[in-house]
Amino acid sequence: MQDNKVDVVTLGESMILFQSYNQGALQYEPLFTKSLAGAESNVAIGLSRLGKKVRWVGRLGSDPFGDLVLTTLAGEGVDVSHALRDPEAPTAVYFKDFKRCGDPAVYYYRKGSAASRLAPDMIDETWLQGAGHLHVTGITPALGEHTAAAVRKLMELAREKGLTVSFDPNLRRKLWSEEQARETLLSLIPLCDIFMPGDEEAEFLLGPQEIEAYGRAFLDMGPKVVAMKLGAEGSIGFTQETVVRADPFPVERLIDTVGAGDAFASGLLSVLLDRREELSTGLGEESLHEALCRANLLGSMATQFKGDWEGLPTLAEVRTIQGGQKQVTR
Ligand code: ADP
Repeated sequence: MQDNKVDVVTLGESMILFQSYNQGALQYEPLFTKSLAGAESNVAIGLSRLGKKVRWVGRLGSDPFGDLVLTTLAGEGVDVSHALRDPEAPTAVYFKDFKRCGDPAVYYYRKGSAASRLAPDMIDETWLQGAGHLHVTGITPALGEHTAAAVRKLMELAREKGLTVSFDPNLRRKLWSEEQARETLLSLIPLCDIFMPGDEEAEFLLGPQEIEAYGRAFLDMGPKVVAMKLGAEGSIGFTQETVVRADPFPVERLIDTVGAGDAFASGLLSVLLDRREELSTGLGEESLHEALCRANLLGSMATQFKGDWEGLPTLAEVRTIQGGQKQVTR
């Protein structure tokens, strides 16, 4: 990076994903593709492709998979100069099967990973240097009590330093108990400015309610903007002043829904970060609608390819698609 200004810092665990090449049960699959995975690094790549300067921070093993995480992110223009390496614990891996229908099942091998050893005393102020915004998810706090404390500390530090903060609960039921998840995720909401739950996550956190009641309840906890993902129905945004619905962007060929939420976050943040002034004075309806439409577009695109981030668009591609033009490919 040429100057020290960074639009977004994100902290999280990045792993290596082995995805079965053929459709069918994982145990019979002889071939796997290998790639980078991790909710926060997905968002980092998404934002970088949309022209934002992004710094990813996380802990990796001193192993070839840790090297692969760094080279992939650096290749996408993401600043990885603050990443930490653990000489003893490994970079995590996980496996994903490729089903004929429905969401693919994932199997994590991340217990005891370098990232899961993150602790509050490792949080370093320099991670936030020159940055305007911090993005975190509920996955890191799910890795252990010390990782939860570390995320809380970083969110508090970011607020103290005047950064805006976004938080995607990214509920991972496989990683912690329902009680722990609910209590911890709810306790982190007051530390963010932009909260982006899915409708099912909202129900998990607050119990069954009308969609609009979720929006009001989350706003009352502190965030200035609540952007709720509604899957194939698109999304709905809430501020104290307004409620805005955004239609979904059509999906021509649904391939893999994993990563849609991260893509949504990249799209949403890419617009909201250009409206930082408005965020502090009160985000207008038009800006919120534009952010949700961009988020829906990215979410829809993410469902149409196999990897979590590989097919995410550049800003030029987004403008072409939103302008209704056909891309000239040859
Ligand atoms: P998550 O990955 O967090 O479960 P969702 O499945 O709600 O997130 O998807 C995130 C966003 O991606 C949705 O709000 C929507 O904008 C877009 N999206 C997901 N699935 C579809 C779909 N089938 N058709 C159109 N858009 C979709």
